Amino acid sequence: SDVAPARELSRLDNDQRDAVSHSYEQPLMILAGPGSGKTFTLMKRIERLVSEGADPRSVCVFTFTNRAAHEMRERLSKNLPYRTISHLSVNTFHSFCMQVLRETDTIGPDVSIFDEADQKRLLKICMRTRNEEGDRVRYVNEYSQDPTSLLRQSGKDMSAAERDEEKFLTAKLMDRMDFAKSKGRLLHEISHDEDEIELSRQYEYLKNQMNALDFGDMLQQVVTAFKEGRTSFEYVRKRYQYLFVDEYQDTNEVQFELIKELSRQGCITVVGDRNQSIYGWRGANIENWNYFTTLFPQHQKIFMGTNYRSTRKIVDAYGRLLSTSADKKWTGEIKPGPAAAEGDPVKLIYCENYFDEADVVAKLLHRLIHEEGYQPKDIAVLYRNNKTANWLQPSLMRENVPFRLAKGKVALEKKIASQMMSYLKVMINPRDGSSLMNIVNVPPRGLGLKSLDMLHRHVALDEGVGVLHYVIFFDFHGNFKGFKLSSFNNLKILSDQFKHWTEFSKGNGKPSDLIKLIIQQTGWKMEFKDETTMDTLMRIIDGETAYEVEPGPRIDTILRFIDQFALDSGEIAQEKDADEVLLSTMHQSKGLEWPAVILTEISEGVVPGRKRQKADSFVVDDEEDKRLLYVGMSRAKKELYITYSRRMSPFINSDLLKNVTHTSGDTVLFGDVEKKKNKSWTATEEETNEEEEEKPWYTFIK
Ligand code: ATP
Ligand code: MG
Repeated sequence: SDVAPARELSRLDNDQRDAVSHSYEQPLMILAGPGSGKTFTLMKRIERLVSEGADPRSVCVFTFTNRAAHEMRERLSKNLPYRTISHLSVNTFHSFCMQVLRETDTIGPDVSIFDEADQKRLLKICMRTRNEEGDRVRYVNEYSQDPTSLLRQSGKDMSAAERDEEKFLTAKLMDRMDFAKSKGRLLHEISHDEDEIELSRQYEYLKNQMNALDFGDMLQQVVTAFKEGRTSFEYVRKRYQYLFVDEYQDTNEVQFELIKELSRQGCITVVGDRNQSIYGWRGANIENWNYFTTLFPQHQKIFMGTNYRSTRKIVDAYGRLLSTSADKKWTGEIKPGPAAAEGDPVKLIYCENYFDEADVVAKLLHRLIHEEGYQPKDIAVLYRNNKTANWLQPSLMRENVPFRLAKGKVALEKKIASQMMSYLKVMINPRDGSSLMNIVNVPPRGLGLKSLDMLHRHVALDEGVGVLHYVIFFDFHGNFKGFKLSSFNNLKILSDQFKHWTEFSKGNGKPSDLIKLIIQQTGWKMEFKDETTMDTLMRIIDGETAYEVEPGPRIDTILRFIDQFALDSGEIAQEKDADEVLLSTMHQSKGLEWPAVILTEISEGVVPGRKRQKADSFVVDDEEDKRLLYVGMSRAKKELYITYSRRMSPFINSDLLKNVTHTSGDTVLFGDVEKKKNKSWTATEEETNEEEEEKPWYTFIK
């Protein structure tokens, strides 16, 4: 393993070599644009450190996504022995915190970790537990006499529009709660909106009752414990002597606090690109650059200016976009590498409307794969909103384009996977009413609307007793008048089954035996449309793919699996060999690269987003949207397509993108670029100009 790093070192350019050979004792900040080898250099620096004899257990690396952590381990394993890799800590902030909390016994095994889906489910429960006037209803009795609010609980009577509205509100509320937590606060402590305050309070209250933590809580707890100097945390602090942080520009305040706590010894390297800061809406704090320089006045800065990822035309295009940036304190100039090919022009494709756009994307993919020799896995389609994936899918299927969703979990049918997780979570933490509601009628247990509503309300008003327990042993004959006897009996059976499964899970053996038992005893099997879903589930739980079965009680593996599942939520699936086009948000594409990239829906109202009033600190920020586009564009190595409909994004105009081929959807597909070029381009440009008068916010582009 001595030879390999040396050979690789010769690949480094001068700036990169400076960065790698820089002393570990002096804090280092590496600033550089996309594709300049920041992540690559960071890895080389880690390699050098451990090959020079540092204990791998003393190395702590933070990546932005689990996928990035996974990739970093893979790449490091080319030059470092397995044992070394297994001792390195390469994690996202969340998974680091989860591990530390478990390791220090700060949270017991029966504490549920709420991922995004859990968070949203609980928020929905909170939102629905209010009467027509919007007040939270406090008493089950009072509530059960109001038939209208009964129905509002389960949401069964909601129209599609109402459902959408609710979805939007929960997502927004969740972002705002996360935002507050990223500043070390709770939303109800900083909000001025009464509704929000009430919902945030109720959410926090119920979450505590349910013995659960969300991601924001985990970070806060860890930071607090470090600050208080708890003994078990001192031990953790001492262990990590060397700290490395990738994508530093998107760390938030609480994460900075954690970095601060862990870096007392000053051996820290951060790498980042200010211009790729795209998580301001979630609390990413650009001030962290300054905090760093203040905290470590003795630090050194290194700039790297060569791009090794993209063709000249592509680097040129996003460089021009960046030069319009209002924030001039950017990372530095980025030049194409000496060996970079000239490449094809960036292609800008106008579509009539967004249905059209989906067709264009699908046909484009078809062409890339069947005529231009790209493998599906070499292509990514990136967009701003996850819902874009929904309207893309029918078109992709029509064109027979194999694809996978970044959001989709490891090839499992999402719903079934989440329900199975809920079974396991309730088993481990019976107070987790949010998970219970996810499965109480899966498979159907004859619970009607009324019974479900009553259960929902119990969850919402729960006093911290397991809901099943509560329903069955305390309240059935009291408050649950009208609860059908058959439903009650079914719940009782479920409750007994949970007890049985808990016992079973303490035994030795394969964890998937438990899943099989659950599926069999509940009669759930009917719900699985195909065998493969179940097989995949079993395989994953048994560790044939990613998880190793631990010797000893199967519960240990299950616990690990549940934690991992929560952490992976919303991330790019880790299947390596799948030859499929990836559909992902631009946010999730951070740090990654593909030979061909299609950015879609780069239209005004989407990128940049619609909301512009600076009412509070959560607004969509045009500069940030520009950076988002910049991140998206800079993922492409060889080919970059940008599609838009109606109005184009004001960030893209002819001045910005020289050498760009403008064309409408059908001309791209039929190769007749010249004929339609001017028509579509002129039309949209006029529209853009008209807009400019009333919206001076993008005049700086000209
Ligand atoms: P981003 O800002 O998007 O995260 P980055 O700065 O982290 O980008 P990397 O992902 O580390 O960039 O590198 C981009 C690509 O360039 C990778 O494929 C990497 O292997 C390659 N690369 C980096 N340095 C060199 C080099 N000196 N010679 C050749 N290729 C290089
Ligand atoms: Mg990187």
